[in-house]
Amino acid sequence: MERSHDPALAWSSLGDRTAISLHAIEIRWVELQLRSPVRTSRGVHDRRPVILIRLIGTDPDGAVEGWGECAALAGTTYDAEDAATSFAALEQILCPALLSVTDSAGRMPSLGEFAVLRTDVSATSLAGAALEMAVADTHLRSEGTSFAELCNVGSDPVPVGAVVGECRDTTELVDRVDRLVDGGYQRIKMKIGRGWDVEPIAAVRRAHPGLFLQVDANEDYTESDIDHLAGFDRFELACLEQPFRREDLSGHAHLAHRMATPICLDESLHSVDMVVSALEMEACSVVCLKPARLGGIGPALEVIRVCSAASVPLWIGGMFETGFARAVNVVVGAVSGTLWPGDLSPAHSYLREDLTAQAAQAAGPLQVVPSRTPGMGPALDQAMVDRHTVNMVRLGSKPGSHFGDG
Ligand code: MG
Repeated sequence: MERSHDPALAWSSLGDRTAISLHAIEIRWVELQLRSPVRTSRGVHDRRPVILIRLIGTDPDGAVEGWGECAALAGTTYDAEDAATSFAALEQILCPALLSVTDSAGRMPSLGEFAVLRTDVSATSLAGAALEMAVADTHLRSEGTSFAELCNVGSDPVPVGAVVGECRDTTELVDRVDRLVDGGYQRIKMKIGRGWDVEPIAAVRRAHPGLFLQVDANEDYTESDIDHLAGFDRFELACLEQPFRREDLSGHAHLAHRMATPICLDESLHSVDMVVSALEMEACSVVCLKPARLGGIGPALEVIRVCSAASVPLWIGGMFETGFARAVNVVVGAVSGTLWPGDLSPAHSYLREDLTAQAAQAAGPLQVVPSRTPGMGPALDQAMVDRHTVNMVRLGSKPGSHFGDG
């Protein structure tokens, strides 16, 4: 049977042609460190706990496994779901549900069936997105197909931008931006907030008059700051990202009518419906797409369709992923056909140690291309994963075989 060239159809039917028995699921807490702390208006990111899921099963050819990676961070500054919440949701709700459905159907569900399963269990979106990734990775590895092939994308480089956090002073900031621009990044996104906005933006703009520059406030302002924010128009920014609280779509709509700079939303857009509402209310004219925040690849492909139909530019946001989940985002960026550079720099540029074997061979910031390895992303380095695992729980497919091994 010919596979659909429509990525959304190909995605939901992934698993229809495989026959996978699932024997166990490992949920791992892996501790990684960022190369240097990233300061935002909401706090400082320095460590990166990563929740990984490993599905262990068999297909007609023998053993098969698949991995999923969770976007949840150490704390709740970006999302109410942090790494501990994700771990608990996976252990107590999502993984038992997948084992139970697989047991009763005699095979692991397709992605379309998995989407239905998720609407039946109340759980968190970041954890659900991670398990969706693991299910997809297992099916793709069983088939010997890459996520890029499934989505019918080629090997053209995807445009890449860099993010720079708040700095000690504008001299340090401009130094860091200089280095990133010299490194070939096509866009710089500055983190801003109260007390770190006009002067630093002006300094970067003076040093780089033609730079594709955008700023991210991570909800630090309120509607009483509209006049102040409207003054940013003089900096000719590509967009101003998430100035107000995530619930405040009407505030963003007011601001959008007051300033020429496009408003981009990130934290607000936690579902396809929210993206549709935000666009209808004209609360934003640019979309930051993070598949995990939407609940996974299925809804992300739907947002790409909505934005494309409305000619709304989007770009791919980052969550300090390892090279595995970042490769997934690179393919999503390629599917979207976006011309806006995304947060897609190689994982080793922000993580002290990455978990993928191929990280060291990454060609550089301008040459990020979709991975062709069977599965969702490049293979994880098992020894590296083991070395950084600080906690693991293993769930078995038979009732009562649930045990933790610390
Ligand atoms: Mg953001």
